[in-house]
Amino acid sequence: MDEPQPVTLPNGRNLKCDTCENELFEPRRWKLQTTGMTFMNLDWANRDATCFVCSSCRRIHWFHW
Ligand SMILES: [Zn+2]
Repeated sequence: MDEPQPVTLPNGRNLKCDTCENELFEPRRWKLQTTGMTFMNLDWANRDATCFVCSSCRRIHWFHW
C-alpha cells in the first residue's frame, strides 16, 4: 500500500479533502480501458484515471489524468 502523501494539482494548488480538509492521500491508478475501444477509434477514452483516497475519512477524489 502506498504511503499517504500531499497531492499537487495541475493548477498548482494542493488537494484538500472535500469532507474533512485533510491533505494526505493514498494514490491509486485505475484502468479505464475497455475491450473493443481501440476498434471503435475511442483511444481517447483509454486514458487512466487517478484517484486519491483521503487518509483520514477515506473519501475518494477522482481525476482524469
Ligand atoms: Zn477526508
